Amino acid sequence: MESQLEHADVAAHLSEVKALIDAACKKAQRAPDQVTLVAVSKTHAADRVRAALLAGHRVFGENRVQEAEDKWPALRAEFADITLHLIGPLQSNKVKHAVATFDVIETVDREKLARALAREFSAQDKHLPVFVQINTGEEEQKAGVAPAAADAFIALCRDELGLNVQGLMCIPPFDEEPSMHFALLSKIAARNGLTNLSMGMSGDFETAIELGASHVRVGTAIFGARDKP
Ligand SMILES: *Cc1c(COP(=O)(O)O)cnc(C)c1O
Repeated sequence: MESQLEHADVAAHLSEVKALIDAACKKAQRAPDQVTLVAVSKTHAADRVRAALLAGHRVFGENRVQEAEDKWPALRAEFADITLHLIGPLQSNKVKHAVATFDVIETVDREKLARALAREFSAQDKHLPVFVQINTGEEEQKAGVAPAAADAFIALCRDELGLNVQGLMCIPPFDEEPSMHFALLSKIAARNGLTNLSMGMSGDFETAIELGASHVRVGTAIFGARDKP
């Protein structure tokens, strides 16, 4: 009973978020199919994630390789056509597992990692789409390439390493107005000929859509609060 209630919960929240995305698209005069909802299922048990799958959702985000390895093989066996995005920092020694587990890597943020990914994509003959993470707030503790270094890094990834760079990703500083960060990400993407922007979370995905997001990463608004931040 408890779990059925939870399932109804997740399905209801999911359709609310989708309706808000559609409304934001309409307001921005964008087609709803230009925005992909990445449902962020980190820390949530497979059973809760299954509720979103049963409701028809197929695109998910996880921030830790180990957690995704534990959770997703069984779900993939149960549901076809899942697309799993890695949205958390990736250590070079986990690249092999990440390439085997995920379908999109959103957090390419340094040369060592880019090179390790290029090698592993060849080794597994699995050339995954990637996003370059930009540290738009230039925060010391946060991952991502500094805005000033972005063009050169994107060129390295694409031209020298042959990575399939599809867009840029950012996580704005927690305590700042996100708009300027979304606008900066959009500007860097435009001058590099990239069209995909992964930006916007539960608190600001509508703003992100207004500013051109192609992917919004929404966790709490779908699955509820997480035990650990
Ligand atoms: C956890 C996480 C999200 C989802 O955040 P919510 O506020 O729960 O929607 C989005 N992006 C990244 C990179 C995350 O780690």
